[in-house]
Amino acid sequence: MVCGAFPLLKVIFMRVLCIMGVCYLAALILLWAGRRGKISRKVAAVVSAVCLLAGSGALATAVYPIGNGYGKTVNRLTDLSGNGAVVVPPPGSARTTAPLPDGAAQKSVPESGMAIPAAAASGELPGPAAQKDNRDNVSVISSGTVHDKWIALTFDDGPYPPYTDRLLDVLKAKGIHATFFLVAEQAQQYPELVRRMTAEGHTVGLHAFRHRDFLKLAEEEKRKDLEQGQNLLRDITGKNPVYWRPPHGFRDFSVMETAVAQSLTVVNWSVIPRDWTGIDSQEIFRRVMDKADDGSIVLLHDGDSPGYKASRQATVDAVAPLIDSLREKGYHLVSLEEYQEKNR
Ligand SMILES: [Zn+2]
Repeated sequence: MVCGAFPLLKVIFMRVLCIMGVCYLAALILLWAGRRGKISRKVAAVVSAVCLLAGSGALATAVYPIGNGYGKTVNRLTDLSGNGAVVVPPPGSARTTAPLPDGAAQKSVPESGMAIPAAAASGELPGPAAQKDNRDNVSVISSGTVHDKWIALTFDDGPYPPYTDRLLDVLKAKGIHATFFLVAEQAQQYPELVRRMTAEGHTVGLHAFRHRDFLKLAEEEKRKDLEQGQNLLRDITGKNPVYWRPPHGFRDFSVMETAVAQSLTVVNWSVIPRDWTGIDSQEIFRRVMDKADDGSIVLLHDGDSPGYKASRQATVDAVAPLIDSLREKGYHLVSLEEYQEKNR
């Protein structure tokens, strides 16, 4: 009986929804007991308040993207370096040091309606510093040290035509690599976009096979989703994805345990401009520039949940000016793999 109870308790306290349920139920029982005079009303009120707070805190910790309350979560690039938590194989066929194709720097940003900064909006590099950075992009990344300033742009919910292609055009023109957290069922539909990401040196991470709230999934559903997603991306890219961004950034003990069992490192973010809320490219630009600092992981979206099909043009339009302005401030823009390679 006792032996049987411990695994059950473990299952209950691995899932935040169960933790909340137990806490809230305990609060109700205590209040009932106090009302019926079985325990002091004062004690009942205080302890039930603690239970309610504990349940709410457990949920807040699960949905708040930053922090290690349920296990190690990478929120900044420094969380990746020197911790021995992740072993990323060399990028292999990924061309992290390849020169830009001829004429790539002159390629314009499609449908650019961005007004700030003026030089950046035109698709041209804004100043001498940025010009040097772009020209020497390969050597800058190759000679990077932990003392350099790094920022990673990450894009969720793709691949998603036509925006993913347009974004890849911008990144190629600017000569930087980003990280894409892909919805695998989307990747299944558009494998050529995933192959393009890999061929152009970007890091391909997993978001999910299907974009669902993992806090609500059974253990087996979570495991299957991640396994299917990993297998599919590996079939397309030839590499097992090692980075995973949970849908919405939500995670609890059970989600983290499943990720670790699949050898995935959980990566959330430190800068979130909320680009999916219908704001324009200037506002996306402003929000990122306000918050970005050394080691930032920026969350942007090149895709949307199936069924909504929103435009991501504002994000695409914001990226070229962002790259230019961040470079002007001395930042190197890198993919997660590049950063780890240079900061082992
Ligand atoms: Zn998402």
